[in-house]
Amino acid sequence: MEPFVHQAAATRVVFGAGSLARVPSECQELGLRRVLVLAGGSASAAGRQVATGLGERCAGWFPEVAQHVPEPLVERAVAQARAVAADGLCSVGGGSATGLAKAVAVALDLPVIAVPTTYAGSEATPVYGITGTRKRTATDPRARPRVVVYDPRLSLGLPARATAASGFNALAHAVAALAGPTTDPLARLYATEAVRLLTTALPQVRADPTGLAARGRLLWAAWLAGSALAAAGTGLHHRLCHVLGGSFGLVHADVHAVLLPHTLGADESLTVAPVARAWGLPAQTSRAALVAAVRELAGRAGAPTRLAELGLAPEQLTTAAAQAAEVIGGHDITWFSALLTRAYHDEPGKEQQ
Ligand code: NAD
Repeated sequence: MEPFVHQAAATRVVFGAGSLARVPSECQELGLRRVLVLAGGSASAAGRQVATGLGERCAGWFPEVAQHVPEPLVERAVAQARAVAADGLCSVGGGSATGLAKAVAVALDLPVIAVPTTYAGSEATPVYGITGTRKRTATDPRARPRVVVYDPRLSLGLPARATAASGFNALAHAVAALAGPTTDPLARLYATEAVRLLTTALPQVRADPTGLAARGRLLWAAWLAGSALAAAGTGLHHRLCHVLGGSFGLVHADVHAVLLPHTLGADESLTVAPVARAWGLPAQTSRAALVAAVRELAGRAGAPTRLAELGLAPEQLTTAAAQAAEVIGGHDITWFSALLTRAYHDEPGKEQQ
């Protein structure tokens, strides 16, 4: 018997096509009277629907959302929440909207209702990030949304490439929870189901982006993978994604998709067998064969595979490697530089040779 400690979340999950309409009653249930809606860009229409549905309970709308949650944005959102005397926050959008709401929630001790539109899974964790000169992440139970409303209809418009990359963000969460050193049996249970859903639904959604059932399975996987990560904690892969995203402005989900085969191949602290089993492969599958399966899924899902296509200049590889060695540790600049160079050109690693 394996002794373990598992921290379960006190989050209510409302799932189903059309569940966006339930946000006002969920706010009422929490006793909220002055809700600040945070929704921008692609989520503006859904945000408007929430604001209208809330009626007098809507205290205001913060329409600016940006990748990696820049510090000035948090300051403005906190100022608006204070100015309208908000007693709760409702984010509608991907991980960037959720992340902004989490940062405001911690600053003002307010509850969050999250309505995710990507597969980032941030809504399932108490971790939040804010980016100044570098991206800093912190864990605070107040950041964890009290209610998550999943409406698969909101994800129908997520473009094909962003869908695949975001699905790989969820996959990276599941892999960390299965293979990392600080996992537990419940986290592995969640992550195993997430891998099963992602490996089947990602190719299905690529073939039919409007298939509501498969879109729903991806959202369900995002919750499971995020919850698994929240219990198991992050490792080298995630920290490297934050270095590349936070300091070089790369798109978070794209970085996950590109790096996953390379970190899984090179980070020997990750255990292969539990990921292989979740993938439906024999437990004795080699690291190289598992990495090959991840690459094959990236191809079928249509995920990006090279850092070169994400906007990183070749001369930035050395700076990124130096920063990774400093911030993440455990390996020297040469090791990180070799990994990033392979990811830049999508060259197989040592485990494939
Ligand atoms: P995002 O929220 O920035 O969305 C990416 C792009 O897709 C944006 O342009 C957005 O407008 C658009 N978009 C989102 N949903 C859409 C939809 N349904 N239809 C059409 N367009 C849509 O990106 P993301 O990958 O969801 O989140 C990234 C952020 O979340 C990063 O800051 C990352 O650090 C954070 N994150 C945090 C955690 C955590 O546990 N704290 C986990 C994962 C990600």
